Amino acid sequence: MGPVSVARHDELAERLAQARERVAQLASASGHGVTIVAVTKRFPVDDVLALREMGVTDVAENRQQEFVAKRADYLSHGGDPGLRWHFIGQLQSNKAKSVAAHADSVDTVDRLSLVAPLNRGAAAAGRTIDCLVQVSLADDAGGQEHRGGCPPAQALALAREIAGETHLNLAGVMGMAPLGADPFAAYEILARTATEVRGEFPEATTISAGMSGDVAAAIAAGATHVRLGTAILGPRPSLG
Ligand SMILES: *Cc1c(COP(=O)(O)O)cnc(C)c1O
Repeated sequence: MGPVSVARHDELAERLAQARERVAQLASASGHGVTIVAVTKRFPVDDVLALREMGVTDVAENRQQEFVAKRADYLSHGGDPGLRWHFIGQLQSNKAKSVAAHADSVDTVDRLSLVAPLNRGAAAAGRTIDCLVQVSLADDAGGQEHRGGCPPAQALALAREIAGETHLNLAGVMGMAPLGADPFAAYEILARTATEVRGEFPEATTISAGMSGDVAAAIAAGATHVRLGTAILGPRPSLG
């Protein structure tokens, strides 16, 4: 482990600059600010350190073990503690406590049974963490693959449960457009769900939507956060 090579540094800098430019253009066309969350899953901690030095504010991981280990490595290598770490994977109940102890935001809260263990984990670590309600966009928008999330009709109930916990902060909603569906139609469902949640919780303004392939549709539909992996880090190494 050490600093990234010059070639890798330049590649990350160039990809990041392109992604920022694109997101800034889309955001200004839609009239609202958009935060980039860099999805660093399967990439080494050196990439995270380099991206932080380039001003990246938020990173995301999708597997509990990799998430906890990479964050610990990052901090032990002198990484800036101000970097925000998001968890964006399907969360097993028995891993919820651990994730909550290390995450700044858990973006994939998709069922009631996760709420109490997340709160316990955050409380045990002496912190309050952001949570997003992950909404399934599959049924209404079409597409074949289920990518996690609660049905839109259950999002408000889940939001209430999160908001009722002392160590969890309800920050908004998150969703993934189903493969094969029209992403704009899918993200409009997410935007409607976000409006419903905000009706009761005005501070829950985050709409995390959009990945490298559908960022334009997501921002047009109202995304406040986009989760970019490939666009910033390049093709992901396959699972070992
Ligand atoms: C991997 C992942 C992303 C990033 O995907 P890219 O297509 O590489 O941008 C975004 N969101 C979630 C939930 C992911 O698991």
